[in-house]
Amino acid sequence: PYVVAQPCINCKHTDCVEVCPVDCFYEGPNFLAIHPDECIDCNACVPACPVEAIYADDELPAEWAHYAEWNTYLATQW
Ligand code: SF4
Repeated sequence: PYVVAQPCINCKHTDCVEVCPVDCFYEGPNFLAIHPDECIDCNACVPACPVEAIYADDELPAEWAHYAEWNTYLATQW
């Protein structure tokens, strides 16, 4: 699945949510999370994100590796 990373924090754009064909973004107070079981790896959200916050889980920059679990946790809480 794809993962939302740190640049998303406090970003007010929701372009990614609009392009996702399966509505797998979950919105919290200052961050968006992708539900890993619902994402179909279509890549549509990556070019739509104005802050380059979205990565395929196997291409996540190392410093943001923990965001994979964080997306899972938040997407299932929200
Ligand atoms: Fe949605 Fe596709 Fe992005 Fe997955 S890769 S979150 S299915 S737009």
